Amino acid sequence: MQSTVWFTDLSTRPGRSLLDKTSELLRSAGLAERIAPGDLTAVKLHFGEKGNTSFLRPIFVRRVVEEIAAAGGKPFLADTNTLYLGGRSNAVDHIRTAITNGFAFPVADAPIVIADGLRGESAVKVPIEGKIYKEVSIGAEFVNADAIVALTHFKGHELSGFGGAIKNLGMGCASRAGKLSQHSTVSPFVDPSNCNGCGTCVAHCPAGAITLVSAKALIDPRECIGCADCIVVCPEHTVKIDWNEAAPLVQMKMAEHAIGALQGKRGSSLFLTFVMQVSPFCDCYGNSDRPIAPDVGILASADPVALDQACADLVISASGRDPFRETHPNIDWTIQLSHAEELGLGSRKYEIRTL
Ligand code: SF4
Ligand code: SF4
Repeated sequence: MQSTVWFTDLSTRPGRSLLDKTSELLRSAGLAERIAPGDLTAVKLHFGEKGNTSFLRPIFVRRVVEEIAAAGGKPFLADTNTLYLGGRSNAVDHIRTAITNGFAFPVADAPIVIADGLRGESAVKVPIEGKIYKEVSIGAEFVNADAIVALTHFKGHELSGFGGAIKNLGMGCASRAGKLSQHSTVSPFVDPSNCNGCGTCVAHCPAGAITLVSAKALIDPRECIGCADCIVVCPEHTVKIDWNEAAPLVQMKMAEHAIGALQGKRGSSLFLTFVMQVSPFCDCYGNSDRPIAPDVGILASADPVALDQACADLVISASGRDPFRETHPNIDWTIQLSHAEELGLGSRKYEIRTL
């Protein structure tokens, strides 16, 4: 069965701005039917790393917030902490980075909630029927939210070819443990050269998997439960991740986490993707290189698989080539789509309705 994807290009005229067209898209895609009065609605987005300039503009987010409020919902801006150490690896830094990048309450008209808590420890294991997982670890406040509206900046990505709605949901809603599980098949390890033996990681490890041996921390992989707490609490940044998972499997794991993120919310979720300033890499980097494709427009759908497929098709059509394969030649980005479709997250077949 094919899904409906709503599309608007970037043309505007006096009295019909791109913000007005964003509202039209949300209404056409059925936002009001997906938000019940009083619904605590997570507006899932990526606030951008410090120095990045291609993340979604806050002014669009405000318009989405206004539409959710008009539909009776109570919107809040949400993301989870990062696995790597940067400007968004704990809730305090994350909120400061978000505000630096323009997502302050007076601009976006909604509060920020970091969905997996202060250090990424607030997670819920959601049961799924996946090929890889039987449960996935999702940021608690995404599970607790009544509804999700995921806003995605469509761009290139070094592991998934492009980063679209599936990645925004699968990697973006996962707790730190969920992210570690997607990226690595082994436990974190300590680089002893920078370990000062302070014991902070030992005190934080919930599994008792870390001991000090000759004043250096040592992780026992047989005891480690993969929560990734040690990575962020180490003051010397010397607990490392082996980013060893192969790209095809990362995409499949990502799709399975997306299913977990939407568990129980298929009727109360909507996805809006901005195909503008299509940068070659993720917004997690502290810079944004020049776009690899022309600006295309904004798309909305209740089906994240159809939405990602449509975005990729439109980018390829507008570019006259596949800029994602060109930029990341070893990555087959169709894997995330086919795996998600196989597991029932959505359909790669779609019809476009243009506003
Ligand atoms: S927190 Fe870091 S520096 Fe301290 S003991 Fe653990 S690994 Fe070593
Ligand atoms: S990942 Fe979690 S369980 Fe494993 S060693 Fe680090 S803190 Fe302990």
